[in-house]
Amino acid sequence: MSEKVEKLCAELSLSAVAHHYATLADEAVKKKRSYIDYLEQVLSAEAALRSERSRQMLIRLATFPSVKTLEQFDFEAAPGAPKARLQELAGLAFVERRENVILLGPSGTGKTHLAIALGVRAAERGYKVRFITAADLVLQLEKARREGRFEQYLRRAILGPRLLIVDEIGYLPLKKDQSDLFFQVVAKRYEQGSVVLTSNLSFGDWEQTFDGNAALTSAMLDRLLHHAHVIQIRGDSYRLRQARQSGLIGGTVNREAH
Ligand code: ADP
Ligand code: MG
Repeated sequence: MSEKVEKLCAELSLSAVAHHYATLADEAVKKKRSYIDYLEQVLSAEAALRSERSRQMLIRLATFPSVKTLEQFDFEAAPGAPKARLQELAGLAFVERRENVILLGPSGTGKTHLAIALGVRAAERGYKVRFITAADLVLQLEKARREGRFEQYLRRAILGPRLLIVDEIGYLPLKKDQSDLFFQVVAKRYEQGSVVLTSNLSFGDWEQTFDGNAALTSAMLDRLLHHAHVIQIRGDSYRLRQARQSGLIGGTVNREAH
């Protein structure tokens, strides 16, 4: 161990080098590695640490309600989820092409899980991702406007992320003014960047959420669907199914409840 090396590593913020250089040096002597091979190993350790840190940072910045992955999604338990299409989406070509993904289906069928899983993949790819529920998004838009920083909010929070995930459209009906704000988000991102949306409502019912405004809803769907992958998930709630399997509840359940 060399105090001088450790001091230099601290100065240069090379924490993985500091951690590994001595062990790797012993190993290099034993295995008769060249200086260049040794240097490569030390630098690789630093690079691996940095990429792991930046991945964790991007996942943290995305503000996912919890971290879910595609590997954790049980397709056997979700026969109504189109596996091949979801796996293709996980390749993230849609983000590069600035296309949207819209996940539709009843409550508990894994829409949020899948939206997060796509977001986690994107963060791992090094993309800036932001997850927000439609209700929180509207609250933030209203707050930004009240505080006279609406344009700034649109630029930073809406246009900033490479992938914007808006969860739960349709759970909360929006008032006229809120619907207008939401429309601005869609208009702003149109052809600028990908949006992943989830909703328990089919498109025909979206109008209900947006203050019964048919013109606004169709103008919005027009933009969203122009370059979009619509994934319809069918089936029963995963949560309810698990509860049933464990005997917590029995018989038929009200599928509309959420
Ligand atoms: P939705 O957003 O459609 O209401 P969620 O994605 O919140 O449903 O799913 C509800 C819960 O069930 C979450 O904890 C989710 O991780 C889990 N879940 C849903 N479907 C599956 C599945 N097919 N495999 C594993 N977990 C699932
Ligand atoms: Mg959900």
